[in-house]
Amino acid sequence: MLLAVFPDNRSVLVLKRSDAAADDSVHRPDHRLPTRDELRGLGLDIPQNLWRFADHRGVPVFGVFVERSRLAPLVDKPVKTPDGDRPQLIDRRTAPDTMDVDECTQINRAFHLAYWDRNTTFCGSCAGPMTRIPEEIAKQCSSCGTISYPRISPAVIVAVVRKGKLLMAHSRRHAEGMYSILAGFVETGETLEYTVAREVFEETGIVVRNVHYFASQPWPFPNSLMVGFTAEYGSGEIVLKDGEIEDARWFSPQELPERIPDTYSIARRLIEWFVSEHGTEDDLQQLLTRR
Ligand SMILES: [Zn+2]
Repeated sequence: MLLAVFPDNRSVLVLKRSDAAADDSVHRPDHRLPTRDELRGLGLDIPQNLWRFADHRGVPVFGVFVERSRLAPLVDKPVKTPDGDRPQLIDRRTAPDTMDVDECTQINRAFHLAYWDRNTTFCGSCAGPMTRIPEEIAKQCSSCGTISYPRISPAVIVAVVRKGKLLMAHSRRHAEGMYSILAGFVETGETLEYTVAREVFEETGIVVRNVHYFASQPWPFPNSLMVGFTAEYGSGEIVLKDGEIEDARWFSPQELPERIPDTYSIARRLIEWFVSEHGTEDDLQQLLTRR
């Protein structure tokens, strides 16, 4: 049993069995959730609408949004239950540093669904109350019948290469010294390829060509799907137009910025692809050993 409690869009309080108990629970058919009273005993005041959203190696993952204030006693003084539940408050973006990636994937899936659940309490058409449809992940308005499915917002991310150098930018939102490749949300009516070209041109004034699909990654911060591309430089020089990007440059595999995206992100995988294509074996080894 893995319980993920989301006090906000960034952090998650994870409650899980100790390793021994977790192994044991795989074979238990019931996967009993702690009762509300048991959770209260832990300092967790959780509303009743707790849903099973995902599974991790046969163990169910539950997720729910709660007010941060409801977690205050627990955050101040972490406790451990007699049967080995260990509450742990972590930043979702850095969760892969302390948890296994598969577990993080399920917690992020639970987050995406809990976020949707919280934001569809009432119908968008008639403001009637929405109730869960048991056989699928959907809700229906009990008044007008409108059905709501979890919304996924696609975004693109692209590695643009010019003469063996990669286009990377420092945005206002990034930590100091951090550079990443360009990304942006898909707008209504656009193809993904068009979004790639538009975002790169809007943010840097560069025209790209030969846009090719690379890979994708669910990115539930809060409800996105990141679609990765590679592209070649076509024309233009870097001109920073929108206020979002503070600096953009071309980086060779030997001179990558001090700070780059985390290892589990598709941005990092695209940077690794760039170095494997345009750098030496040493360059790649150096990158793969970086955090
Ligand atoms: Zn309705």
